[in-house]
Order: sequence, then structure tokens, then C-alpha cells
Amino acid sequence: MREVRVELGERAYDILIGPGALPASEGRLRAAIGRGRAAIVADEAVWALHRDVVTAVLGDLPIVTVPSGEATKSWSEYARVSEALLAADVGRDGTVIALGGGVTGDLAGFCAGTLRRGCNLIQLPTTLLSQVDSSVGGKTGINSRQGKNLVGVFHQPSLVVIDTALLDTLPDREMRAGYAEVVKYALLGDAPFASWLEAHGGDVLRRAPAALAEAIETSCRAKARIVAEDEREGGRRALLNLGHTFGHAIEAAYGYDGRVLHGEGVAVGMAMAYRYAEAQGICDGAEAERAVALIAGGGLPTTLGELPAEPLTADGLLTAMYQDKKVEGGALTLILPRAVGDSYVAKSVAGDTVRAFLAQELA
Ligand code: NAD
Ligand code: MG
Repeated sequence: MREVRVELGERAYDILIGPGALPASEGRLRAAIGRGRAAIVADEAVWALHRDVVTAVLGDLPIVTVPSGEATKSWSEYARVSEALLAADVGRDGTVIALGGGVTGDLAGFCAGTLRRGCNLIQLPTTLLSQVDSSVGGKTGINSRQGKNLVGVFHQPSLVVIDTALLDTLPDREMRAGYAEVVKYALLGDAPFASWLEAHGGDVLRRAPAALAEAIETSCRAKARIVAEDEREGGRRALLNLGHTFGHAIEAAYGYDGRVLHGEGVAVGMAMAYRYAEAQGICDGAEAERAVALIAGGGLPTTLGELPAEPLTADGLLTAMYQDKKVEGGALTLILPRAVGDSYVAKSVAGDTVRAFLAQELA
């Protein structure tokens, strides 16, 4: 089993990775749970598919299932799950175990972060996206009518167990969407990893066990390093948003209805960041081409034209981009690439330049 440590002082924790990591981690899980009461919060689809492996390791714990889908990150599910955890006697010394993708992890993490002012949290992520991204780093929360992830807390887990065998049941489209975030780590800061993905990306998407574990470990190491440097996103953690300012605007345009998955929006967004950087003379054309090819090689879209027909407009996208949390004093902040494996946080990006670029992307 592979192991990655997230160095956060007294909040440090380990990520255990590999096929069969769950059954192999029984001792570590028991130690992380300690003597308090534990309960599982599980995506109902994942519970139906994988309950046997989970109960074989954890025994018969109280279980709260939540509906699959983004709508679960809501006030009503937050209240329902919190009440169920209290009814199950999860105390201040208790543990919430999140089993599912980012939706379940974000909701269950928020419940754990606020239950009795904060109890122990263990993440058992089951999508590629959650295994390389959302289960690590401590961001938790729900959506509001005003937008995504607007209510939440930073609450680090005490253990993350990534059983890559659970991905065998994940739909291919979800697999590719998670792969976009894997590519992101290569593009934002790891050129050798980009070369490795050019050679082995197909194996990762086919879920070849060794390639999959390698890609997930490398991704988790990258996220762990950045989170350890900047836990609450005062600076460098923003690099993890490569492709996300464009991507979030695209997702918002489709109303988060599932026509465009987060990873698909990020895939187009990263390609756009490279083309924008190229147009501004920040990134070499050959580098931009290589980045776009790596994204496309994962079976992911790289242009707005490949997305479902929708009246996307430059003004609509720009307005959505201004909802970004990185907007400062009325100016946009973009994560811009200088090359494959090298990006930086660009502040004070002019809206007019971006609008002209968006119009060109839509033409
Ligand atoms: P998800 O949790 O909605 O899961 C996607 C789909 O896959 C669901 O239908 C689910 O039922 C199904 N599924 C999950 N595991 C499965 C398995 N092993 N086999 C078969 N089906 C399975 O989506 P996601 O992409 O994992 O997460 C998206 C969420 O993560 C968004 O809400 C996003 O805001 C959040 N997120 C959070 C962070 C963070 O740092 N906290 C980072 C990135 C994304
Ligand atoms: Mg993301």
C-alpha cells in the first residue's frame, strides 16, 4: 500500500492508497476511530455496490445514506444527516466516516466539522475526482441558492483511505472527469508527470491497478504539498484552480444539471487558460498545443464548441467569472500557465481582454 502524509502539524494525517486499501487498513481505521462512536455517511448508490467490503472492515456501524447527486449538498440534507448522527450517539469523541464521491465527502465533512463543534472525520473516497482532490485538504461544505460551496468549514480528516478497486464500478464518464483533475496536477507544476501521463494515461483510464495507484499517489502528493504550504488558500493553494475560473463559469452556464460535469468544465477551462496565455505571449504555442493534446488524450473536451448546444455568450461567461472567489477589487485573478508543468497566480487580469478572448473562443 502507498502512503502520503499531509504535513499540517497537529492536524497532520495519512492517505493510504492502493487496490484493496480498505480491507488492508482495518487496523489503521480502528486506531483512527478510537473509542468514540462512529457512523457512516454513504452515497446510496455506492452503499448498494460496496457495502459488503465496508462492513467486512468496519463491522455493523450506524449508516446514514444520502441520495446521489449534487442536490445532496443542501441545507435540508445537512440538517437531516446531522440529526441522524446525533441520534446515533456520535459524540465529541465520535467519528463520521464519509463513503462516496465529492458530494458525500463535502456534506459529511461539513456535518463532522460542525457536529458538537467538530468531531473526527475519516474519508473513504470512491470516485477518481474525490480520490485525487476533494477528500484531501479539508474543504467541506454545501451549496446555497446563491451558488456552489458557499457555506462550509475547513475541517481536515484524520485519515483518508483510497481503495482504487472501488473505481471498477465507476462510470467511464465520471472516470474521465476525475482524470481532468489528475492532468491538472501535471499541468500546474509537474512536467515529468505530464510526460508520464502521455505514456500511461490510457492505462489510468482503463483502471490498470499499478498505473491508477501511481497517478493517484502523485496527485495526492501534489495536493498535500500545496495544502501543507497554504491550508486556507491565502496564496499558493489557488494554483489548484488552474482551469477552474473558466470551468466554473461554464458549469454555471449549464445550471449544474449534469450536462457538463465539473471535470469536463475544468478540461475546457484548462485548455482555454493555455490558449489565453498563448494569446498574451505568456506561454509558448507548442507548450499550449501539448497541454491541449494531453487533455484531449483523456477523452475530454477542450473547446466550448464540443459542449452541448447552449447559448453560451462572452458576456454571460464573463459575468459568471466575476462570481469567482478570487476576484479582488473588481479585477479577475486567473491561474495562468507559462508551460506544461509551470503556472502562476495572475492578479489584476483585465475583464475587457478576457471578454475579447471569450468572444474569439465562441466564434
Ligand atoms: P459525486 O460525488 O456526485 O459522484 C459522482 C457519481 O458517481 C454519483 O452519481 C455517485 O453516486 C457515483 N459513484 C461514486 N462512487 C462510485 C463508485 N465507486 N461506483 C459507481 N458509482 C459511483 O461527484 P464527484 O465528482 O466525486 O464530486 C463532485 C463534488 O466534489 C462537487 O460537489 C464539488 O464541489 C466537490 N469538490 C470538492 C472539493 C474539495 O476540496 N472539498 C474539490 C473538488 C470537488
Ligand atoms: Mg476541481
